[in-house]
Amino acid sequence: MDFSNQVAVITGSARGIGLAIARRFAVAGAKVVICDIDETGVAEAAAQLSGGALGIKADVTSVDEVTALFDQTMKELGRVDVVVNNAGITRDTLMLRMKEEDWDMVLDINLKGSFLVTKAASRIMMKQRSGRIVNISSVVGLTGNAGQANYSASKAGLIGLTKSSAKELAARGITVNAVAPGFIETEMTRAMPDAAKEEFLKQVLINRPGTPDDIASAVMFLASDMASYITGQVLIVDGGLTV
Ligand code: NAD
Repeated sequence: MDFSNQVAVITGSARGIGLAIARRFAVAGAKVVICDIDETGVAEAAAQLSGGALGIKADVTSVDEVTALFDQTMKELGRVDVVVNNAGITRDTLMLRMKEEDWDMVLDINLKGSFLVTKAASRIMMKQRSGRIVNISSVVGLTGNAGQANYSASKAGLIGLTKSSAKELAARGITVNAVAPGFIETEMTRAMPDAAKEEFLKQVLINRPGTPDDIASAVMFLASDMASYITGQVLIVDGGLTV
């Protein structure tokens, strides 16, 4: 895939799935913007990308920081072709034990953050009359999961945001799709108890955990010309976990 002369902004890309996506876009010739709340991680990730990358520290829940992210991107790179809403967190516990702040924080970062980034990016893309937005949801946004009421609700909400923004933006040449990963090996899943991991893995038809690159491949496809007639969709990448 060739993304030469295109600018790709990936949130939460200091590590994990976001960093894998950033690497793949850089290899495909895109100018990549690494955006993350982790300032040190931003600098390290940007330095290791082929051809270099623009690193911008931004908290996706802050309107001011999201505005500054796109202002700086436009100033230095002049356009925004691809945005991947990947920044996300978990605060898992059973609902009866879940604190209000665990709910608010997960919904703020995973869902409101994606709304703020989509709003800022779509202003630019509408003027360009082209753009690709890919939201990283989760299979639990489709199925629900005990111990993840906040996270599942945020990821289901992200699917609603995907479909609504697809409807609002299609006429301006912008597609909006979601990828729903299953169990992917990153720091996020390393924090899960071993028993819960084993339970998930038993149900994966393709007998291995997913890798960040498995998700990056799906994102690249949805951002490419090959997917120009696909919008408002959810692409499940879970090795058959939810079949
Ligand atoms: P990760 O924890 O390794 O990386 C998440 C990144 O987001 C981190 O670099 C973190 O600093 C950043 N981040 C957190 N809060 C932020 C904020 N407010 N503003 C900007 N950046 C912020 O997680 P991951 O496994 O790579 O997950 C990436 C995405 O994929 C998340 O949205 C996650 O929900 C989703 N996902 C992951 C899995 C999985 O199995 N790992 C499954 C389904 C969906």
